[in-house]
Amino acid sequence: MLSNKIQDAINAQINAEFWSAYLYLSMAMHFEAEGRKGIANWFNIQFKEEQAHAQIFMNYVNQRGGRVVLAPIAEVPASWTSPLDAFKATLEHERKVTALINNIYAIAEEEHDYATRDRLNWFVSEQVEEEETAKELIDKFTLIGNDGMGLYMLDQELAARVYNAPSILAE
Ligand code: MG
Repeated sequence: MLSNKIQDAINAQINAEFWSAYLYLSMAMHFEAEGRKGIANWFNIQFKEEQAHAQIFMNYVNQRGGRVVLAPIAEVPASWTSPLDAFKATLEHERKVTALINNIYAIAEEEHDYATRDRLNWFVSEQVEEEETAKELIDKFTLIGNDGMGLYMLDQELAARVYNAPSILAE
């Protein structure tokens, strides 16, 4: 059984993951409208990944005999001044998500809830990747600057990204 404190913290995190999904979908729609198909594809996949994160938490709450409660998803920004601006916002947001995960981790330790801590380990590693990827893309867009050919090639690279559901969802 999950304690109320852990259940509330995970339900808040489910909402945060859906907010992340909504944020990245908004970015995908922004870049779609700007004709930047590769960037739009990258954010569309990010949108799917965030929904998968929410699903992993929902599955876990159900597995532990808890109750998932879905709260309203707050409004997200609708436009960004450049791809660099969007990837900077992505890194900043992912750093906040990392802090949220660490906070639940601390609660799980306080409560000696080792099963929750174990599940959170997946998210701890995932956040390292999320921050690393956003940082790499910031570096690439910074390096390219306004070079048209560079931007075209990077757009092609981002267009090639495909979605793979996390294997943890199949467990
Ligand atoms: Mg996430």
